[in-house]
Amino acid sequence: MNTEKLSNRLETVAKYIPEGYTLADIGSDHAYLPCHVVQAGKVPYAVAGEVAEGPFQSARKQVQLEELTEKVQVRKGDGLEVIKPGEVDCITIAGMGGALIASILENGKEKLENVKRLILQPNLSAISIRTWLLESGWELIAEEILEEDGKIYEILIAEKGDPKKPYVNDDLSTGLLLGPFLKKEMEPAFQTKWQGELKNWKRILQQLDRASRSEENDKKREELQEKIKMVEEAVDNEESKRP
Ligand code: SAM
Repeated sequence: MNTEKLSNRLETVAKYIPEGYTLADIGSDHAYLPCHVVQAGKVPYAVAGEVAEGPFQSARKQVQLEELTEKVQVRKGDGLEVIKPGEVDCITIAGMGGALIASILENGKEKLENVKRLILQPNLSAISIRTWLLESGWELIAEEILEEDGKIYEILIAEKGDPKKPYVNDDLSTGLLLGPFLKKEMEPAFQTKWQGELKNWKRILQQLDRASRSEENDKKREELQEKIKMVEEAVDNEESKRP
């Protein structure tokens, strides 16, 4: 019996796992996601990977509780080292920073050869993942943004293909920062996220203006001004194109 209801965040990740694909969920913690999709019959077999002892034991307990030990393998290890080449069709990595997710993918590159889809949910710095995908032959095919319990989450879905395709007709830096799909879709959560970032950056800018001049502060100020301009222009432009 499936005892755990998934959060909307993990439900959204699960929605993008194609029916019948084998799965590795890296950094699985309680293994809620693999248990849920296997229990639902969507995925025939899953690996739940965990690097830390506590979450690894939680995952083992959950899989036993749900009587899924035949179909969900809990393995302890760093990133993609827990999977064998060709073992899974789809990889999910959720609930970590974007830079960590990108480094897990980079360090396990040789395990990705037969993987067909990546579903990645960074808690911050989605730009690190978009940059890695662009440089590594993975095409971003969809993005989602959602708000849950006062936090905003982005979900990035990628397949092998033309990594530049989502950024055609777009300024690359803006696309990498905001997300080429999210920027067009302009969901309320997207607006909330970037209005919040703008407010935060403007506050930092004011503090820098009050601080004593230095080369380092001048550089920070310039970078912030550039980011503020980029985000304001992108958000205003897309809004003005709406019917
Ligand atoms: N994926 C679950 C979710 O989204 O709810 C759990 C997220 S939890 C905040 C992040 C988990 O990733 C932790 O349990 C942590 O031990 C694990 N983790 C961090 N770095 C990892 C790595 N390099 N390899 C495997 N697991 C890792």
